Amino acid sequence: MTDTETAAPESAETVAHRIHAESKAATPRQAEAIEREEAHAAHNYHPLPVVVAEGDGAWVTDVDGRRYLDCLAAYSAVNFGHSNPVLLDAARAQLDRVTLTSRAFHNDQLGPFVEALAQLAGKDMVLPMNTGAEAVESGIKVARAWGYRVKGVPDGLANIIVMSGNFHGRTTTIVSFSDDPTARDGFGPFTPGFRMVPYGDAEALAAAIDENTVAVLVEPIQGEAGIVVPPADYLPAVRRLCDDNNVLFIADEIQSGLGRTGATFACDLVGVVPDLYLLGKALGGGIVPVSAVVGNKDVLGVLQPGEHGSTFGGNPLAAAVGRAVVGMLATGELQERAQLLGQRLHTGLERLVGHGVVAVRGAGLWAGVDIDPALATGREVCELLMERGLLAKDTHGSTIRLAPPIVVDPSDLDWAVDQLAAVLEDLSER
Ligand SMILES: *Cc1c(COP(=O)(O)O)cnc(C)c1O
Repeated sequence: MTDTETAAPESAETVAHRIHAESKAATPRQAEAIEREEAHAAHNYHPLPVVVAEGDGAWVTDVDGRRYLDCLAAYSAVNFGHSNPVLLDAARAQLDRVTLTSRAFHNDQLGPFVEALAQLAGKDMVLPMNTGAEAVESGIKVARAWGYRVKGVPDGLANIIVMSGNFHGRTTTIVSFSDDPTARDGFGPFTPGFRMVPYGDAEALAAAIDENTVAVLVEPIQGEAGIVVPPADYLPAVRRLCDDNNVLFIADEIQSGLGRTGATFACDLVGVVPDLYLLGKALGGGIVPVSAVVGNKDVLGVLQPGEHGSTFGGNPLAAAVGRAVVGMLATGELQERAQLLGQRLHTGLERLVGHGVVAVRGAGLWAGVDIDPALATGREVCELLMERGLLAKDTHGSTIRLAPPIVVDPSDLDWAVDQLAAVLEDLSER
C-alpha cells in the first residue's frame, strides 16, 4: 500500500463505498460484511467480493439471497457438497455425545475411524492430525525418524526430495521448500534438508537421490500449480526409484485424494501405491478439519509415545465425521460419479480451446483452464463468472481451477461450462 502512504485514513463508510464501487457485484450489504472482515482479519487472502451465508449441495447463497454454483468446493474440502445430510447427521450425533477428550484418554470414535481409513487406503496404520500442513509436517517427521532408526542414515543428515511447483502448506518448514516467492520470501531462515527437482522428471529425481535420502514427497497431480498432471509413466518411475534406493514414497493426496480425480487416490489412476498417503481437506467433510498420515506399521510404527502429537488430532467429533466420509467412499459410487462427470466437464471445456482458452488439464472432476492472457487475467474471468452465479478461483495468473462438489447435477455442470463460454465470448467482444 505504498501509494496510499500519504493519503488520509478512510472512514469505515468510505471503505464500504469504495469496496462496493470497486467490486461490481457486491451490494451495500455485501460491502458492509466485507469491510468488517477487512478491518480486523489479517489480509492474507484476496477473496472474490461475495459473502456466502448458506450452502446446500453444490450451491451457496449469499447474504442477499443470490445463488452461486460453487466450482471451487473449498479447494476440494467440500467434495461431498455443502450441508451433506449424511455427514451432518454423523456430526450432530457426535456433538451430543462428546467432542474432545485429547489423546491423554481413549475415545470410542477413533478406533472405528482409523480402522475404516486404513482399510480404504489398504494400509494398516493411521496418524490422525487436523490440517493438511500438519499431515505434511507429520509425514516429514516420520520419514526422518524412519531414516535414522530403520534405514540407518547418520544423525542430522537425512534429506527429502521435493518437486518444483509444489504446494504442501504454509508452515515455516513447508515454505522452506517452496519455489513460490510469494509463499516464501521474507519468512526465513528456512529448514534445511530438502532438495528440489523438476516435477515430472524421473531422471532428475534419480540423479538427486543419495544414500541419505529418506523420502520423495510428491503431489500425484499438482493442485495449486494449476492442476498439473505428470506424464503417465512418472509416478510408476518414482515408485521404482524409491524401491531401488530404500526411500519412502510420500504422496500428498490432500487435494487430489478422496474422490476428486475419479478414484479414491490419484495414485490409483496409474496403479501406484505410495508408502505414506497424506490426507486432509475432504477428510473433514467440509465440517471440521481432519487430516491424516496413512501407512504401514514398518514406517508409521517408528513413532513412540510422546514424540509427536496434537491436542485436537483424532478427536471424537473429527473421527465421527472422518469415518462417515470414509463410509461414503467405501462403495466407489462417488469415485465413479466424479469420473463420469469429469468426462462431461472435460469434453465441454475442450470445446473452448481456441475460443479464449489456451489449454485444459486435469483428471476426474478437476480441471485447470488456462485463459488466453491476451483476453483477461484469471481473476477477471472469475469476477465475471461470479456475476453470472458461478464461483471459481484463479491460480498463477491466467489459470482458473474448476472443482465442483462431486454431488453436482450434470445439468448444472453443463450450465457452468456455458457460463465460462459466455464470459469468454463477452471478453473477446470487448
Ligand atoms: C491444501 C493443501 C495442503 C495444506 O492443507 P491445509 O489444510 O491448508 O494446511 C497441503 N498439500 C496440498 C496438496 C494441498 O492442496
